[in-house]
Amino acid sequence: MKKPSIESQLFEALAFAAHKHRAQRRKDVEASPYINHPIALARTLAVEGGVTDTKTLIAAVLHDTVEDTDTTFEEIGAMFGAKVADIVREVTDDTTLEKAERKRLQVEHAPHISKRAALVKLADKTSNLRDVASSPPHGWPLERKRAYFDWAKAVIDALPPVSKRLRAAFDEAYSKRP
Ligand code: ZN
Repeated sequence: MKKPSIESQLFEALAFAAHKHRAQRRKDVEASPYINHPIALARTLAVEGGVTDTKTLIAAVLHDTVEDTDTTFEEIGAMFGAKVADIVREVTDDTTLEKAERKRLQVEHAPHISKRAALVKLADKTSNLRDVASSPPHGWPLERKRAYFDWAKAVIDALPPVSKRLRAAFDEAYSKRP
């Protein structure tokens, strides 16, 4: 069988993520559909970062499916290949751990992650800072927003340098720290 085109792989990933996240909403006041977030990440990578690597873009679309839905790495591997599953694994927190420990581990693991996973992380944190600045999660006091910005920057500062353009996008988002 002919290898599926890049476009068909990407649309397959979008449809898969939209289905998996169908019952979830973002934490903003409007409770936006969750899928807006993975779409924003892939958009940031492609449009702002000029990233054309299909595996990175697919992993961005799928990056929260295992952490936040019933999706397994095996399922991703079977549908999108082992490499994509590995990238998603690298950006997935161990949800059996306490929130504070998960946050600490993100900083600790950041220097050792692959280039593709680092690109996804850069876009993820950029997108999250933009959301916290423009439509913050319901009920977050100022201090919590600031702490989120500072933690995100600690993660990004610890990453290997992978993209000047995406780092600039992150820094621009960070400059809006409340
Ligand atoms: Zn995310």
